[in-house]
Amino acid sequence: MAESLTTVAPAPRARVQAMKEYHPPLGCRDNLRLDFNENTLACSPKVRDALAAVSMGSLTRYPEREPVEAIVAAHLGLKPDQVALTNGVDEAIHVLFETFLEAGDELLLPVPTYTMYEVYASATDARVVTVQAGVDLVFPFERLLNAITPRTKVIAIANPNSPSGSVATREQLLQLARRAPQAVLLVDDAYFHFHGETVMDLVGTVPNLVVARTFSKAFGLAGLRLGLLAGPTELMRWMRRVLSPYSVNSLALVCLKAALEDTAYLDWYVGEVLAARGEFETALDVAGVHRWPSWANFILVEIGAQHAEFARLMRASGVLVRDRSSDPGCDGRVRITVGTREQMRQAVVALNEALAALRSGGKSQ
Ligand code: PMP
Repeated sequence: MAESLTTVAPAPRARVQAMKEYHPPLGCRDNLRLDFNENTLACSPKVRDALAAVSMGSLTRYPEREPVEAIVAAHLGLKPDQVALTNGVDEAIHVLFETFLEAGDELLLPVPTYTMYEVYASATDARVVTVQAGVDLVFPFERLLNAITPRTKVIAIANPNSPSGSVATREQLLQLARRAPQAVLLVDDAYFHFHGETVMDLVGTVPNLVVARTFSKAFGLAGLRLGLLAGPTELMRWMRRVLSPYSVNSLALVCLKAALEDTAYLDWYVGEVLAARGEFETALDVAGVHRWPSWANFILVEIGAQHAEFARLMRASGVLVRDRSSDPGCDGRVRITVGTREQMRQAVVALNEALAALRSGGKSQ
């Protein structure tokens, strides 16, 4: 006879029990997607051709990442051992935190910022120290510098930042790196293409600088989950111990090469978004909507108490936007991704209709 089954379920680590669930609204997104800062159109046609050429036999093999890492490193002007491909920047953040954060350590973050830093930090035994940006959402440089302690082990800066769109200067990043030599300074370059400035060229010369970059935004490969970490060889060696050698799949590896080669497509898409951002900013100003200056492919706008209703009205008009009200210091604010000029003209029509409905109190009843 089988032994009696216990009714006690296995308990996860205490850290995991204390973690908050994070469910980004990824369902039902067939409308105009101005909610996740993705490329809103398509990836390069060269990527599609590369995918079409993938043989069924090649899928039977485990992916080999090293040759592609060497190509990416050359593209960035770095050595192959200074670059590791990851399953999106999310895995890069996870790996970096798992490698460097332990009990007694502090992760220093300006907030509001990208949610996943806190999510992954909460699974470690480190303490999260946040520095709140002011109402202007300008990078809180001085206060961040003053928040550094001997226990600061990682400082994570998204540059440009999300959801604000604000930036840190090269000099500010360098000063942070110098002030905290015991800490890894992670500069998350996710939106770098729309800003045009990076500290990637300092990788290897600044001993504690690690840069992360994603292929989910300008390149339009969010569905393939592709990112990278670039840093000094010594730091990369530790992170490679934590990183799975299998986490980047072979389709992503095939597409990465094609995506990097098609600089014409990337330049076109970035140029289109920047032109659209300018037009959209003007439309927001005309509509009397307060906005924060952005160096990325999105704009944070002030909607006020009716933020949730605004997002609902936009969705009803076929345009998805992201309510950021629960982000620290962002009550009443909504983030709108910038796509092509044509898409943003559609967004402006929806926005004006939604605002008119809110102001008249009509549809919001
Ligand atoms: N970093 C920042 C600052 C982001 O906003 C995002 C996407 N929302 C990511 C990283 C995630 O990148 P990936 O898709 O490569 O995981």
